[in-house]
This record gives sequence, structure tokens and C-alpha cells, in this order.
Amino acid sequence: MQNVLTNLLGIKYPIIQGGMIWCSSWKLAAAVSNAGGLGVIGSGSMYPSELEDNIIKCKQNTLNPFAVNIPLLYPDLDQHIKLCVDHKVPIVITSAGNPSAYTSKLKEHGIIVLHVVSNLKFALKCQQAGVDAIIAEGFEAGGHNGREETTTMCLIPLLRPHIKVPLIAAGGIGSGQAMAAALCLGAQGVQVGSRFVASHESSAHESFKQAVVEAKDGQTQLTLKELTPVRLLKNAFYEKIESAYALEATKEQLEQLLGRGRAKKGMYLGDLEEGELEIGQVSASIDKIMFAAEIVNELMNQCKESLKSAQIQMS
Ligand code: NDP
Repeated sequence: MQNVLTNLLGIKYPIIQGGMIWCSSWKLAAAVSNAGGLGVIGSGSMYPSELEDNIIKCKQNTLNPFAVNIPLLYPDLDQHIKLCVDHKVPIVITSAGNPSAYTSKLKEHGIIVLHVVSNLKFALKCQQAGVDAIIAEGFEAGGHNGREETTTMCLIPLLRPHIKVPLIAAGGIGSGQAMAAALCLGAQGVQVGSRFVASHESSAHESFKQAVVEAKDGQTQLTLKELTPVRLLKNAFYEKIESAYALEATKEQLEQLLGRGRAKKGMYLGDLEEGELEIGQVSASIDKIMFAAEIVNELMNQCKESLKSAQIQMS
């Protein structure tokens, strides 16, 4: 399946793995890239020395292109950017910040730049900043999310007429059927996060992977909009947030409640009650832990079948 996005990124299938913090180390990135998608190292949870180690290991384990996701809120941002340049990382995906901050610098070094947005205003900024492709992430997605609560179904058709560069749909895409729908909406590819959290190669704690497999619909919620909006699996920590809201907690009180390192506690160390468990709505449809290559193949087969059957229904 070749299109403008696969040609741009030098990949076989238009499937990009989300750069999820604590879940996306070199092992997952290399496995997805070897399977024909674009594997992504999630640098948001890595100190610079860890990121360097992950880039080196990823290169040793795949000959295919891979990317590093850099949230622009990251404290040692410049060091992460420098590491990507020094190690000639082919593709960088920036998120959670202004796309004009680093795009031209990265592109000067021959790096392909993608940026994640959740609304039209930022998509237009991306285009102006010269990004090579835009990842548009809807409200269904896990982890950091837009304040507007625009679903992927609404976001892609909203952006499509205004965006000249390839568009990648993210949020709520965990099956080939959803991938086919995203392509029909006008995207050239998809970014898939939650499915890859529940993969054997993901660095998430096994208890978190199991919680994703067991999650039912209605068990995730977008919350903490006053800080950074985030979609979480409901647990004891989430109940504490709800109680704080009921008591009309201030932003400072919410900050205090969140504290530091909750995401690590939940997703990496496996504290399912007090940790932050970042996962998308699509977790309700995930019922087993699979190898990354099996996920990529399943998505592609289902996508092709869905597009064929949609055509038959219309004929
Ligand atoms: P916190 O401030 O709660 O904690 C920081 C965590 O990041 C700690 O667990 C720490 O590890 C780790 N870390 C890695 N590098 C550094 C560094 N240079 N300085 C300080 N801490 C570091 O933040 P979060 O865990 O909520 O988020 C961490 C990062 O991930 C942020 O940059 C954030 O923007 C990004 N993020 C992205 C999301 C997404 O959806 N893309 C979702 C959530 C967060 P240790 O405990 O070992 O010190």
C-alpha cells in the first residue's frame, strides 16, 4: 500500500506507532518499523542519556526508518533535539507545543518533521511552520489531548480542505476498520497508540497491559483540563480528582494532587490504583496482548477487507 505518506517516510504501510511515554522504547519502535510501519521512540519519559541509548539500540535493531516523539513541554528539550540531530534520526514528531519552535532547525539537518495537533488553528500553524506532515489527534485518544473535545471523525474532515501536506488520523484507531474509515475521511495514514501499549514489545508494566485488555467502554475519561488535559483509565487516583472537583479545587490544588511521576507510577511501575493510566477509548475493544508485527498485519488485512466490503455495499 503506497501513497504520498509512505513515500515521504520511506515505510511500507501508512501506520505510525504513537510515541507513548513509558510504553514506547526502542524495542517497540524497532518491532513496528521492522513490520513495515513507522516505529516511534517516546522520549517524554526518558532522560537524555536514556534517549541516546534508545536511539542507538533502535538503529541496531532495524534498518528501516523510525522516529522520535518529543513533547515540547519536556524540560531538557534542547538536549533531546540535539541528540536527534547528532544521531541523524530520520524523522522527529513534535507534540504539545508550538510547531514553529523547532521545525526549521530540524529540517535544516535533513530531518522529516511531523507535528501533533488537535484543532484547525494549530494545523494551520504547522503548515506555516513547514512541517512535512500533520498528525491530527481526536478526543478519543489516550494521554495528552486537546481541550476542544473534537472527535477524530470531525477533526479529519475539518482539517482536510485546508491542509496540503499529508494528514495522519489519530485517536480511536485500534482496528483496520477504523483505519479504513480514517482513509475515507481524507487521511493518508493513521497513528495507533493504545493497541501498541498492549503489545509484547511495549515497555508498559504487565499489570497495565492487562488493565488495558480488561478495560470496558466508559472506563476512560478526559480530565485535568486546567493543567494538561489527559485521558485516563478510571482508578482510585481518578476518583481523587473527581472528589477534588466536587470540592471546587483550585488549579494549584489539582497540581498538588497530581504531584510528580504519576504516569511512571501507573504505566511503568504498575501501581494501578495511585498511578496515572493513560489510554484511549479504544481500550474497550482491545482483548489481547499481541506482537507488534501481528498488530500491523491485522490492521492492514482488516483495512483492505473493510475498504473492499464498503465498495461492494455501494455497488
Ligand atoms: P512529571 O513531571 O509528573 O514527571 C516527570 C517524569 O518524567 C518522571 O517520572 C521522570 O522520571 C521523567 N523524566 C524523564 N526525563 C526527565 C527530565 N529531564 N526531567 C525531569 N523528569 C524527567 O511528568 P509526566 O510523567 O506527566 O510527563 C513527563 C513528560 O511526558 C512531559 O514532557 C510530558 O509533556 C510528556 N507527556 C506526554 C504525553 C503524551 O500524551 N504525549 C502524556 C503525558 C506526558 P524519574 O521518575 O525517573 O525521575
